[in-house]
Amino acid sequence: MVDLIPSSDTVMQMLKRTGAFREGHFVYPNGKHSPHYFQMPLAFRYYDTARVLAVALSRKFRIDRDVSSQLPKVSIISPSSGGIPVAFGVRDALSAEQIYWAEQEGGKRMFRQYINKGEVNPCIIVDDIIRSGAAIEETVKLVESLGSNIIGCGAIVRFDSAPDTVQGVPIKSLVTFNAHMYDSGDACSDCVKGAPVENVRF
Ligand SMILES: [Zn+2]
Repeated sequence: MVDLIPSSDTVMQMLKRTGAFREGHFVYPNGKHSPHYFQMPLAFRYYDTARVLAVALSRKFRIDRDVSSQLPKVSIISPSSGGIPVAFGVRDALSAEQIYWAEQEGGKRMFRQYINKGEVNPCIIVDDIIRSGAAIEETVKLVESLGSNIIGCGAIVRFDSAPDTVQGVPIKSLVTFNAHMYDSGDACSDCVKGAPVENVRF
């Protein structure tokens, strides 16, 4: 099974080819500068690519006994809209019973579905990319408030500056990315070179 999971290099090539990963000089809405930019939904616009990525991630869960022993009574949870295609792909590959997704409303993360306590199966949280881990941590709190627990967590890409475990569960990813982020232009090597800036929305 393990050799059916594409290498980190192969995944990065797919992300480049689809425009989901770019190199340049980017400024984020929070003012941070970076020479890299991921826009994962650009990879997920191609159904075949989406499927390959989600199936690959699902294999990392399938070989985890804590997860496989609980299937199919498992929930796949997306913290935000970006993770929804990942959640559906992973659900499909694992034949998990439930899918939920959260949204931010008035600065608060909430599930899109109205759910009662006790309805949510043990959870695997999946996202397209984990940058800081904040979305995952907020989703963990949501899950726990509904009386469920986390048995797995993963993303296509995880920045190596983000946590690698959540509630004692290791976070799986197809790529662990060494992200370069500068708090402002003063520290940014591309600003020093005078490289033109591209402002990005997310
Ligand atoms: Zn800069």
